[in-house]
Amino acid sequence: MATLYNTTGIVLSRRDRGEADRWYSVLTREHGKIELLARGGHKMLAKLTPHLEMPAVIDFHVVNGRQFNTVAGTDRRVAYPGLYGDVSRLLLVRNALYLVDIATRQEEADPTLYAIVLAWLAAVDAAPSVSSDRAGFLLAGFALKLLAAIGYRPEVFCCLDCKMTVVAGQYRWHALKGGVVCTPCVTRDNRQWFAARVIADDTLKLLRFGLSEPFESHLRPLLPVVALDEFHEAVEGLMISHFPVIPANSLRAACSL
Ligand SMILES: [Zn+2]
Repeated sequence: MATLYNTTGIVLSRRDRGEADRWYSVLTREHGKIELLARGGHKMLAKLTPHLEMPAVIDFHVVNGRQFNTVAGTDRRVAYPGLYGDVSRLLLVRNALYLVDIATRQEEADPTLYAIVLAWLAAVDAAPSVSSDRAGFLLAGFALKLLAAIGYRPEVFCCLDCKMTVVAGQYRWHALKGGVVCTPCVTRDNRQWFAARVIADDTLKLLRFGLSEPFESHLRPLLPVVALDEFHEAVEGLMISHFPVIPANSLRAACSL
């Protein structure tokens, strides 16, 4: 027998199911990521979709059926009006929600991740309009916090091998193993660390900054130019190594209008 329940969440992505129905992937605090079906033909969808198509925190009334969880009604709990009329920030937020969707598995509750997504929505909503370059940088910072939340926080201070604090210019970067390794360890055990590559100290600084600073700090007026390419490569290397699904686009390509 079908039961009714209420839950609150953020729509991460949607996809059509046949002619009339639509699946929504929703991040909730209590249940993690869940799939909800909006069905009942166009009239029903037309009633639901204004709430579901824009980034928002939504109360869902759900019918828990034998096969599917179906949306019976929605109320918007938190809106982000700053985003709705600004295509650059809207795209940025959608890109971030897409990354959450591909980085997470279903029904694994993660209140920390949920809090990060809420902080992100509030920060971008309050931000001024962003350039494509700035958007790419913000998305990379979001991806770093997302990696940390799902258990792949990169090591950016101590050597992965000997655990000693790394010294400027005396380390390499290994995306798959997830962080820095000191040059003496690379030399000592080259078979294990041959794939580690040189990165600039400025790149490591950006990685540390992205992990430790709140989103508001990522919006500081000065956009770093030094090491920005390498920073993006490092973050994308981590995503490719650790996300269950590889993103369709590079961070910066995803943000270019
Ligand atoms: Zn070492």
